[in-house]
Amino acid sequence: MEDCIFCKIIKGEIPTSKVYEDDEILAFNDINPAAPIHILVIPKKHIDCIAHLSKEDEPIIGKIYSVINKIAEEKGFKEQGFRVIVNSGKDGGQEVMHLHFHVLAGRKLGEKIV
Ligand code: 5GP
Ligand code: ZN
Repeated sequence: MEDCIFCKIIKGEIPTSKVYEDDEILAFNDINPAAPIHILVIPKKHIDCIAHLSKEDEPIIGKIYSVINKIAEEKGFKEQGFRVIVNSGKDGGQEVMHLHFHVLAGRKLGEKIV
């Protein structure tokens, strides 16, 4: 997607601090962290949001959670705990329309909505 900021990050057109990369998934530090650890995990395939997932995207969603666990283990916050948030659409507060999983860790997280 030409105007998508995360697609530009994937293509290397915008620099970022990478945490993990393989042929299908990229993880990088959020530019405006909401916790001591704030990592965004994204599929390299442009998918707007959860509402735009298709049947063929089911495997990548599972793989994203495996990558999150791998990162949590490597960064040392797997046992202490963490939070994964996916905002979807306008009411969900999504600002970047490229599906992304926020991984927050490094402090006791408050403000639980559910
Ligand atoms: P959303 O509100 O769409 O769920 O979250 C978008 C996230 O992307 C925000 O936490 C924001 O700080 C982050 N973000 C936006 N632009 C950039 C960027 O250019 N680089 C990085 N690393 N993060 C970004
Ligand atoms: Zn994109």
